[in-house]
Amino acid sequence: MRSKSILTEAKQIDRAVTLIQLGARLQVLESETDMSYERLLRLYKEVSGKSPSKGQLPFSTDWFMTWQPNIHASLFLNIHEYLNKVAEIDEIDTIIKAYRLYLEQTQAQGLEPLLSVTRAWRLVKFIDNGMLTMTKCSKCGGHFVTHPHEIAKHFVCGMCNPPARAGKGKAAGGLHIPQH
Ligand SMILES: [Zn+2]
Repeated sequence: MRSKSILTEAKQIDRAVTLIQLGARLQVLESETDMSYERLLRLYKEVSGKSPSKGQLPFSTDWFMTWQPNIHASLFLNIHEYLNKVAEIDEIDTIIKAYRLYLEQTQAQGLEPLLSVTRAWRLVKFIDNGMLTMTKCSKCGGHFVTHPHEIAKHFVCGMCNPPARAGKGKAAGGLHIPQH
């Protein structure tokens, strides 16, 4: 994981505002800026026009393993991994950039973006700490979010093997997962 660079105050505010506009939870802002809770709270209300939702962040990896969310999470992570390789920027900025591209992709295909920016951020943390990883689908060759130790030889992704109830059509997506 790349360390945080020392940011000017203006850059910190800018980053916080961007995250709020994308719908991030307050906990994400607290983790990714050095601004005080009180300042972030004020900023949040100013930018979003409402109080931040209370309650805990989702801690479980389960959501990412369900069918459609897995495809959305995989799309985001493919973009994120690509940017991570080509651009030398702070991790949170990579997440922001990748999340914007993910939104563009889903919008272009008329799909609802199932992955929130908070979940996208959480996903990158799960990858960093080894609770989740990516495994190549043995059929289509795309890379998908899985638990670690998935046996790649036998792994078939949710696009190649959708649940019976899914039927055909654009449901999960005509979402295109890039192949490496
Ligand atoms: Zn597949």
